Amino acid sequence: MTVKTTCPYCGVGCGVVVTQNPNGSVSVAGDADHPANLGRLCVKGAALGETLGLAGRLLAPEVDGQIASWDRALDAAAGQLAEIIHQHGPQAVAFYASGQLLTEDYYAANKLMKGFIGSANIDTNSRLCMSSAVVGYKRALGADAVPGNYQDIETSDLVVLVGSNAAWAHPVLYQRLAAAKAQRPAMKVVVIDPRHTATCDIADLHLALKPGTDAGLFNGLLNLLAQQIPPDTFDGQQRALDAAAAWPLDRCAAFCDLPRDDLARFYHWFISADRAVTLYTMGINQSSSGSDKCNAIINVHLASGKFGREGCGPFSLTGQPNAMGGREVGGLANQLACHMGFNPQDIARLGRFWGSKRIAETPGLMAVELFEAIYRGEVKAVWIMGTNPAVSLPDSDRVREALRRCPLVIVSEVSTHSDTLAFADIRFPAQAWGEKNGTVTNSERRISRQRAFVSAPGETRPDWWIVAQLAQRLGFGEAFSWHHPAEVFSEHARLSGFENHGSRAFDISGLASLSIEQWDNLAPIQWPVTANAPRGTARLLETGQGWHPSKRLQLIAVEPQNAQAQTTAHYPLLLNTGRIRDQWHTMTRTGMVPRLMQHQPLPWVLIHPDDASHLGIGEQSLVRLTSPRGWALGCARISVEQRSGELFMPMHWNNHFASQSRVNALVASVIDPHSGQPESKQTAVRLQRV
Ligand code: SF4
Repeated sequence: MTVKTTCPYCGVGCGVVVTQNPNGSVSVAGDADHPANLGRLCVKGAALGETLGLAGRLLAPEVDGQIASWDRALDAAAGQLAEIIHQHGPQAVAFYASGQLLTEDYYAANKLMKGFIGSANIDTNSRLCMSSAVVGYKRALGADAVPGNYQDIETSDLVVLVGSNAAWAHPVLYQRLAAAKAQRPAMKVVVIDPRHTATCDIADLHLALKPGTDAGLFNGLLNLLAQQIPPDTFDGQQRALDAAAAWPLDRCAAFCDLPRDDLARFYHWFISADRAVTLYTMGINQSSSGSDKCNAIINVHLASGKFGREGCGPFSLTGQPNAMGGREVGGLANQLACHMGFNPQDIARLGRFWGSKRIAETPGLMAVELFEAIYRGEVKAVWIMGTNPAVSLPDSDRVREALRRCPLVIVSEVSTHSDTLAFADIRFPAQAWGEKNGTVTNSERRISRQRAFVSAPGETRPDWWIVAQLAQRLGFGEAFSWHHPAEVFSEHARLSGFENHGSRAFDISGLASLSIEQWDNLAPIQWPVTANAPRGTARLLETGQGWHPSKRLQLIAVEPQNAQAQTTAHYPLLLNTGRIRDQWHTMTRTGMVPRLMQHQPLPWVLIHPDDASHLGIGEQSLVRLTSPRGWALGCARISVEQRSGELFMPMHWNNHFASQSRVNALVASVIDPHSGQPESKQTAVRLQRV
C-alpha cells in the first residue's frame, strides 16, 4: 500500500510517498507529483521511515505523574482551567502552540482561546520563526501574503539569499536552485550572510556582512533605484526614499563592513537583472529590527518592479512545516482567524460566524512576553502543544523557572524526550506524523495533506480532538462538535470566505464544500482558492490575476538599527545561532535516528582561527560559552568560514542528548517591537577553553 503525505519538517513542504512493505517496514520516497519537491527529498525527509518506532513515545495521559484515563486527564485539565478563569479571568490562562501542528489542530486551539475563553493569549513557536516577515508583508502589501512561488526561484536571473543557509535549512529548495543554475549558468546567485555556509557553494558572490547590518545594505540599493520610480507610485514613497538617500555606497560598505567593489557589484547585478528573487529567513527575521529588515528587502523589489511577475519577488522562507497554516488560522496572539484583526468589524464578524459573544477584543501576549508573564505569576495556566520552549525560547533557564512557578502546566506531546514535559502537571499523548490526518501550508502558500498510514499507538489522540474534548468540558460543546478533521477544515475554509469580498488575501472558500473523501484526496493547491480561482493561485499581485490589495502598496522608511547585543570587555564575542543539516528543532525526532546523528553528533561552536589562537583553543577542544544569562558547552570547530570576533553554535541540543548545550540558555529575550520576534542571532558572550 502506498500513501501520499507531506514531510513534517521544514517549510519547503515536500511531498512524500510512503510504501508499507510486506515485512511491516516502511519505505519513504519523494513524491514526483508534488510541486514543492518534484520527487526530491533531503536526508531528514529520506530518514522519516526510521522515526516511526515507539521508543521515547508518550503513549498515555498522565496527571501529576500518574497514568490516567483520557476522561480523568481532560476533566482535571478543564476543571483547573475553569477554576483559574473563574478566579482570575480569561487573561490568566494561555496556550503556546506550534508550527508542527496541523491546520485543523491549530484552528481548534485558536477558536477555543480567542472565540470562547475570550482571551487572545495563544501564541506559538512560529513567533520565533517568521513573525517579522508577517509584519513586513502586512505593512508593504496590506496582507500577510507571500507573493511568489518556488518556480520563480528557478526562472529568475538573480537569486539573492539573505540570512539563509538554504543548503541546510531548506535543502530541497536549494537543490532546485542549484539544478536551475547548473542548467542556466548565466543565472546569478548572491549569498548575504556573515558566515560562509554550504549555500555559498553555488554563489557567484558572497557578501559576508557584519551581523545585523542588512537594512543598511538594502537601503543603499533603494537609494540607487530612486531615480527609476515614477513619482507617487507607492504610499510612503518620499519618506522611504529620503531615508534611503542617507545611504550612499561608501557609507553602506563601511556600515556593513564589506568591500566597496563587492557591494557595488551586487547593486549593479540587482539593478540590471530583469528578474530577481530575494529569499530571506531567520538571519533577517530573528532580530530586534527584523520587521524593518523585511521591509528594506520588499522596498527594493517594489521600487525596481521585480514583483508580481514570473521570476520576481521578495520571498520569506518559513522554518516549520505549518508556520503558514498557523498564520492562516490566526494562531498568533496579535491576529484573529483567517487574517482578521482586532478591529470592531472583524471581531463582530467572527462573533457572527462562531456564534459567540466572547471573542477576544485585544491582542494577547506574544511568546517571550507570555513566558515572562508566567514568571511574574500573572498567567497561571499554560497549555503547551507540540513544542519545547524549555529548549527553544531565548533565556531558556528563565523559561524553565517560569514553568516551575506556573500553577498549571499542560503539555500535549509526542515524545518523552521533550525537556518541557518534565514541567507538566498534566500530559496529553498526541498523535505523531504518520498517525494523524490534516493539512499544512508551505512557504509558497501551498496547502498539502498529511495523511495517516499507521495505526495510532497506545492512547494517543489527534490534537484537534483533544482541544474539542476540553472545550466540551468547559461548556462550549456545540461549537466543537466535530467528528473528523475534514469538518474542521471545512469550517476554516468557510470562515476564510465569510463576508470577505476580496478584502482579505487568505480565502480558501473554494474548498469549503469538500466531502470527507474529497478532502482526503485533496491535491496540493496554493491559496487563494475561490470560485474565481478554483485551481488556486500561483502568484499574488500579478496584473489581472490573484489577489490585489485594496489600498496602494507601501514603501516603508527604514532607519537601520544596530543589534541590541553589544560586545563588552567581559563578553567580547558575538554569538550567532541556527540549524544544522540533519537535525530538526530540539532533536526529539531526528535525534532518534542513528544515521542523522552521524552527521554532527556533538554540539559545536564555530570559531575563527585568530580568536581560537588568542584563547588557546584547538580543534575539538571542549569550550564553554557564557553570557549574563547562562552558559553552554560545545566542541570547538575552527574555520575561516566564521568572521573574526563572532561565533556560531547550533540551536538543537536538548538535555536528553547533551546536558548543558542549550544555546538558548545564553540568548537574551530581546524582541523586535513590531513583531515580538526574539533577536536569536546576536548575543554577546565570553568563550573559554574548559
Ligand atoms: Fe522535509 Fe524540508 Fe527536507 Fe523537504 S527539504 S524533505 S520538507 S526537511
